[in-house]
Amino acid sequence: MKLGIVGLPNVGKSTLFNSLTKAGAESANYPFCTIDPNVGVVPVPDKRLDKLTEMYHSAKTTPAVIEFVDIAGLVKGASKGEGLGNQFLSNIRETDAIVHVVRCFEDPNVIHVDGSVDPIRDIETINYELIFADIEVLDRRIAKGQRGAANNKELAKEVDLQKRIKEHLESGKLAISFETDDEDEIKWMKEYNLLTGKPVIYAANVSEDDLADDGAGNPYVQKVREYAKEFGSEVFAVCAQIEQEISELDDDEKQMFLEELGVSESGLDKLIKASYSLLGLISYLTSGPDETRAWTITKGTKAPQAAGKIHTDFERGFIKAEVVAYDDLMESGNMLAAKEKGLVRQEGKEYVVQDGDVILFKFNV
Ligand code: GDP
Repeated sequence: MKLGIVGLPNVGKSTLFNSLTKAGAESANYPFCTIDPNVGVVPVPDKRLDKLTEMYHSAKTTPAVIEFVDIAGLVKGASKGEGLGNQFLSNIRETDAIVHVVRCFEDPNVIHVDGSVDPIRDIETINYELIFADIEVLDRRIAKGQRGAANNKELAKEVDLQKRIKEHLESGKLAISFETDDEDEIKWMKEYNLLTGKPVIYAANVSEDDLADDGAGNPYVQKVREYAKEFGSEVFAVCAQIEQEISELDDDEKQMFLEELGVSESGLDKLIKASYSLLGLISYLTSGPDETRAWTITKGTKAPQAAGKIHTDFERGFIKAEVVAYDDLMESGNMLAAKEKGLVRQEGKEYVVQDGDVILFKFNV
């Protein structure tokens, strides 16, 4: 799962990104952490993993991770290839969702590219670039599709969809708010992979003083909340500067620091959790003497595809899944006891994996 961090220059993206990756680098050792300076791999906090590790005496514990990509340089005119333009847009295309950082803090020492703090204007500047890029994609498809549409009903239906999405975008709306119940249309829309079709979380970057009431007293944050509500997006207040300081503390110090600030969890933990739920993600767990591990899947994933996350052979040769719910396993005390109670189920190809399922896959090689 990959999240792109976007926002105008100087709003605090890199500060936030650096604290995310710093926190990630310290709480787990990922050899793939440093593939690219703009990509950070961040573990998803999950207490269940510690309990399972204890139960199985696992040599290793591997949390689920989310990849964050710092997409700098998205500025006015990017969709027209200005600045480093299209490069950034294609980076965004590869992500599953967007974290849109918006400046809601006043600080005369930090220059705003448009001269003043105005989060809605900023959001729209970015969104327009994304909309323009999407319209271009649709225009190309429409031009190509129209040639064959006269004697191909299905193609005609698709071109009609493309035109309707285009109209929607031209009215200043995002593809994510385009509604259709038609299964073909839903499938096609996915294929277009439109930038404005991706879920968005708004990270309102506030000053330290605004953290305790979650930005409620900051009128800029209020505006962002109103705006986001229209599109069903989540907003949360974060102070990038503080996050950077927190990321340098150890766990105990961090807890004390958060208490002093009057907040229960760090902005990064909130962001990671918000990302997970926004994307409809859940974790299933595997555990044994070698390793206890969380695997990320989308809600509704069936057992063979879930197995495929571990290895494609597991999906191809899938026979069945031996499943026990995490809570049932904990209540039973161990796997054998859970089995005796009949809490361990044998599930087949159609089983929809649930959050917290502890699974052992059986497969042919
Ligand atoms: P980016 O261009 O969006 O990546 O922005 P940066 O993360 O480089 O931040 C731009 C400037 O704003 C830097 O000087 C940061 O120290 C400062 N900055 C970032 N976050 C905050 C914040 O929460 N409060 C204040 N006052 N300054 C911040």
